[in-house]
Amino acid sequence: MQAIWLQNKKLSYRTDVKIPIPNKNEALVKVLLAGICATDLQLIQGYYSYTGILGHEFVGEIIKADNAPDRIGERVVGEINIACGKCANCLRNYSTHCEKRDVLGIINHNGAFAEYLCLPSKNLIPVPNCISNEAAVFTEPLAAALQIQQQISIHPNDKVLIVGAGKLGQLIAQTLVLTGCDLQVVARYQQQQQLLNNNKIAWLLEQNVEQHSFDIVIEATGFTTGFDLAIQAVRPRGIMVLKSTYQDMSANFSSIVVNEITVVGSRCGSFAPALRLLADKLVDPSVLIANKFPLSQALQAFEYMQQSAVLKVLLQMDNQLYTKP
Ligand SMILES: [Zn+2]
Ligand SMILES: [Zn+2]
Repeated sequence: MQAIWLQNKKLSYRTDVKIPIPNKNEALVKVLLAGICATDLQLIQGYYSYTGILGHEFVGEIIKADNAPDRIGERVVGEINIACGKCANCLRNYSTHCEKRDVLGIINHNGAFAEYLCLPSKNLIPVPNCISNEAAVFTEPLAAALQIQQQISIHPNDKVLIVGAGKLGQLIAQTLVLTGCDLQVVARYQQQQQLLNNNKIAWLLEQNVEQHSFDIVIEATGFTTGFDLAIQAVRPRGIMVLKSTYQDMSANFSSIVVNEITVVGSRCGSFAPALRLLADKLVDPSVLIANKFPLSQALQAFEYMQQSAVLKVLLQMDNQLYTKP
């Protein structure tokens, strides 16, 4: 099959990869559409040493499932953490923190930039018919955005700042605006500002951020400069939520102590609420699609993504080129 292979920080397009054989708990999924995310770019840069097929955001169709044959033909999205089910964290129901986890396209398990992938059947969540592939492919990052509300309470009176208006920042903004909080987003680029305008979400430039005035600040830039801005914006005894996995980081942590800031790290979330929001059209991630490439042109897609301010780039498994409406 065709697949995008990462090895020694080099990506290659291969046509000689064997179609995976599912184990007894797994299903074989034909990938329909996949999304490239910042984590993929970080993996190419060596954030985590990984060899294999890249990609973890996808929508696909079950074509083989020995433990659930009635599910063949189902259109699904997939929880990316493959948990052991036996370790202390799994027994606590923290399967995303399984000590022995494999992660689709990230840790020890071939990913979604391929014609087929395998995942445990229990990780595969059916997609309601009313959700298009172009929206369903955002389920994983939307779940990650919603994880913030799973971890901290956000009240209508809270003054909330999102630092970063890229792919994840936009999804976080679309979910947080539903809470009714006083929300502002730091947005650098015109394209990002326009998307926020379309959703009636207030934005500002970084030089206009009022210091030490926000109850909650969410950092989603992927850069340590975003962390510095977030520290300056949060009020004493406020909360900082970190969504970026920084590579090398030096920062002035003393202000966290002096101002008694609560710092919350936030990663993956559950898919069910994300699919509910998509089904009810309460969020519309498809406006974030910048372009779509066939899998055979994935290397060009990655090059295209290096341009600043580019939003979501998708990989389509057949050769139908996307034309943006
Ligand atoms: Zn991702
Ligand atoms: Zn486990």
